Amino acid sequence: MDRRVIDSEPLKMESLLGHLVEITGHRDHDLLDISIMSALLNMVGVAQARVLELFQSHGDLLVRPRVWITDNKVQTFDEENSSADHPCEPIVNFPCLVNCIAQHKNRMEEARLDGDHALWIPIWQNEKVSTCLEIVNDKPFSPQMLQVMEGILSVYRNYQSLLDYSERDSLTGLLNRKTFDEKFARMINSKTHEPSDCNDRRHHSDVKSQWLAVVDIDHFKRVNDKFGHLYGDEVLILVANVLRSSFRSQDRVFRFGGEEFVILLRSTTLADARMIFDRFRSNIEQHPFPQVGQITVSVGFAAITQETPVVILGHADQALYHAKESGRNRVCYYEELINDGLIDNGKKNDSFEFFFDEPSAN
Ligand code: GH3
Ligand code: MG
Ligand code: MG
Repeated sequence: MDRRVIDSEPLKMESLLGHLVEITGHRDHDLLDISIMSALLNMVGVAQARVLELFQSHGDLLVRPRVWITDNKVQTFDEENSSADHPCEPIVNFPCLVNCIAQHKNRMEEARLDGDHALWIPIWQNEKVSTCLEIVNDKPFSPQMLQVMEGILSVYRNYQSLLDYSERDSLTGLLNRKTFDEKFARMINSKTHEPSDCNDRRHHSDVKSQWLAVVDIDHFKRVNDKFGHLYGDEVLILVANVLRSSFRSQDRVFRFGGEEFVILLRSTTLADARMIFDRFRSNIEQHPFPQVGQITVSVGFAAITQETPVVILGHADQALYHAKESGRNRVCYYEELINDGLIDNGKKNDSFEFFFDEPSAN
């Protein structure tokens, strides 16, 4: 028997286990995507592959790459550090993928005009597809290749749903508070590496920035008191749906707890941020909630600067508090309230706390 064959078995097993450890060691979708691509590259010898994200935008179903292999390297679009819009295409540009999803298949092979063979692998979760793999080979896929890929992809599918479960709130399906803390800290960390003039807190209407908004349902206790907790829960689910349809896919929406939600808005001018948050407020006001009728929300928002997450969240919270105090069903912007002298920027409190903190510092 050929010794090389015998020797390569433990090596293959070691490599497989190494990839499994790496895949299941991540608590983050992006890192999971990267490790699945590197497993396909190293274990199957795939030359070209992409992890694609499928999402709705203004009624259209769009596709964009999250991670891909080119030139024997795994590459990714760095969302946190890039202010450029993520490139995307309508799903109709990928007829084989459309077919595969319509027929509810787990994979579909496509022979391309240039002689390449593509394999489309939608990742089904609760009858829906939001992630799909496209794997390209210059020859038809051999049964052995398909078998190894199927093994890797089963781990990927299971781990995707496990991650989703830990990142999302079970009632609304929105990202949860824990995920917010992680994503927000990462966003702030990446900002601290930007040139210092990005820390300029004066936001001119034509400068793009990132924004954080806190949303709180007005008089929600009354909904629970009048209609019961189940109707209250139903309102939370419907508000989450309006949130999902009111923001772009590159923005992030979280259920922060109870009837409070947080939105991270990416690379937008102050004027647009104000318009987008107000459009959401108005969408809620106009949405018919079964039995309950009309509900409203108050929104406070602030610019994401290089200050700590706690400080930025505090700014948005102060603006929300002002929105509540001044009549509810409105959107308030922290910096404008400061400039108009309507709220305090807490500077006096800082020095007060510093005075008391000083003796315990040694
Ligand atoms: P305000 O306009 O000042 O925000 O008034 P409010 O009544 O909404 O404010 P408050 O924060 O005092 O009350 C929030 C209520 O939200 C209290 C609680 O009963 C309810 N709540 C929190 N989490 C849930 C939930 O998961 N389901 C339901 N049905 N109710 C919830
Ligand atoms: Mg509240
Ligand atoms: Mg409330």
